[in-house]
Amino acid sequence: MPQRPSSDPRTSHRDLFAHLKDQQSAMQSMLRRIVEHESPSDDKPSCDAMAEMLAQDFGAIGGRTKLHRDKITGNHLQVDFGGPRGAKPVLIVGHYDTVYPLGTLKQMPYRESKGRISGPGVLDMKGGIVQIHGAIAALQTQGGLPRPVTIILVSDEETGSESSRSITEKLAKQSAAAFVCEPAAGTDGALKTARKGVGDYLLRITGVASHSGLDFEKGQSAVLELARQIEKIAGFTDLKRGTTVNPGVIRGGTRSNVIAASAEAEIDVRVSTKRDVERVSKLFARLKPINRRCSLALSGGVNRPPMERTPGTAALFAQAQLIAAELSFSLAERMVGGGSDGNFTGAIVPTLDGLGAVGDGAHAVHEYIFATEMPKRAALLAGLIRAL
Ligand SMILES: [Zn+2]
Repeated sequence: MPQRPSSDPRTSHRDLFAHLKDQQSAMQSMLRRIVEHESPSDDKPSCDAMAEMLAQDFGAIGGRTKLHRDKITGNHLQVDFGGPRGAKPVLIVGHYDTVYPLGTLKQMPYRESKGRISGPGVLDMKGGIVQIHGAIAALQTQGGLPRPVTIILVSDEETGSESSRSITEKLAKQSAAAFVCEPAAGTDGALKTARKGVGDYLLRITGVASHSGLDFEKGQSAVLELARQIEKIAGFTDLKRGTTVNPGVIRGGTRSNVIAASAEAEIDVRVSTKRDVERVSKLFARLKPINRRCSLALSGGVNRPPMERTPGTAALFAQAQLIAAELSFSLAERMVGGGSDGNFTGAIVPTLDGLGAVGDGAHAVHEYIFATEMPKRAALLAGLIRAL
């Protein structure tokens, strides 16, 4: 990957940072506006309005906006910025949906205090969206975009990206690299260079119902069978390989005096490599009833592939470290267990994730970001777009 040090004929990364520092209050007012417009994944009207609002924001700085309409989830927003001909675009990935239901603002209002900004979705990931906007605007005023940029902001990341996945993957195939503006890993602002793959399984057991007092021996308990299967499934966990298997939800039976005819478990799976995806999938496929008079039905699987630390991703991270050093901060990298749309792009192009806001408490009542990190991270993103 060619490196463009501070001798860049346009302007240095420091100039970008200085410009962005001047933009901090403008960034905060944009953040306030988009946080105060709630956008839970499952509320299509709110999400559609959010997509329209963001389309205006990105349109105002010269982006060509396109809504990928969806009947069920909110419309996904794509924004394209032109650049020199012949250069492959860089893809910037984010989502504007949040996990917070409508009305959350009443207990958790947007607030700026002592250098921290709190409110629903400030960290995950409306702060990141503002930084993307700031980075592109800064590049445009500081010499122009060095290559085309495509931004995809989806409405369904928090619920698994079922509707947007194919759009994100298609855009990744056309791009040179993907920068994912999900929150940083930890308050030190580390980037995410690997993410575990994520899977969901549903195991359903069918037994035979009977009266526990009158006909105990005729019954075949689905609850008992499930308990035995869970013990086995939990054993698929292999911490050394980074594989974790969590039977997180169980349901079954009707009354204590009935031998249960049915029971089921929802199981969360996390894996570090593609090989582990195969290994765990085989283990699940081989499950057999322990009580032969019960039957098993398994559905689901790994739906987000692991984002592995490929040489391409390592090179992007090295580049990010150089830019950070020029801006006088240090940058760490981390592997995380949570999935994002970076899992999809990472399987296709070199991907750097966790480029978004820095703070803590994603999905929690104390969710916050550090205000001064916003221009800094926007400068890092702008530098990366330039250096690619
Ligand atoms: Zn997120």
